[in-house]
Amino acid sequence: MTTFKGKSVLVLGGSRGIGAAIVRRFAADGATVTFTYAGSQGAAEQLAAETGSTAVFTDSADRDQVISRVRDSGPLDILVVNAGIALFGDALEQDPDAVDRLFRINIHAPYHASVEAARQMPEGGRIIVIGSVNGDRMPVPGMASYAVSKSALQGLARGLARDFGPRGITINVVQPGPVDTDANPENGPMRELMHSFMAIKRHGRPEEVAGMVAWLAGPEAGFVTGAMHTIDGAFGA
Ligand code: NDP
Repeated sequence: MTTFKGKSVLVLGGSRGIGAAIVRRFAADGATVTFTYAGSQGAAEQLAAETGSTAVFTDSADRDQVISRVRDSGPLDILVVNAGIALFGDALEQDPDAVDRLFRINIHAPYHASVEAARQMPEGGRIIVIGSVNGDRMPVPGMASYAVSKSALQGLARGLARDFGPRGITINVVQPGPVDTDANPENGPMRELMHSFMAIKRHGRPEEVAGMVAWLAGPEAGFVTGAMHTIDGAFGA
């Protein structure tokens, strides 16, 4: 496939899981792909070699690193912000520094990366942020900071769509339900509980999320912006 031939793509957080599937998809479709990693240098180098993409270290918890990375990537046709973390446990017992780090990775980095990318992005540019169905529905205790962060991305997309729309740049949020990755393995202890909320009782595959991202980044989605796109087996229905 050559849908994205000649397009420059940056994926923030592409070394593993959903991000790696997004890197694979754009690379297979002909794009020039750069992706960031923080903790998984080995996996990142392997993925880069396998796909012909470029892996670069950038800690999404560090706002200035994120801004520099986006700025130094030059004009991007497509930015995907995938890097995200979760914290589990009683909100009353969580370390406030850990909560703030989550907010930096899950909220601040997507905001600053999106704004920085838009400075140089040509007309037709696409920004896609990976949120979560937990931005709409949080059916279990112990994940409030994560839910806050994913709800914040909804405001990010709605607001920035207004700023970027006149320049022909779209911004959207993809909201997965449970997806089989290191962060949420399908054979993990939460499997039955999560599947009990769903109409399609399985975890999603990273490739399924990458497919939705590719559609939003493609030529058919030019009129789609400021919107949330849920892919969750009806977890949130
Ligand atoms: P994984 O934990 O499997 O992978 C996370 C990815 O994000 C890795 O590539 C990791 O890179 C990167 N990352 C994490 N922290 C940083 C950081 N500080 N700087 C740079 N990169 C970072 O997660 P998933 O693939 O499951 O999740 C990806 C996204 O999808 C997240 O935003 C998550 O919230 C969202 N999501 C996931 C769901 C699921 O069920 N799996 C459901 C709904 C949403 P490295 O290892 O190199 O640090």
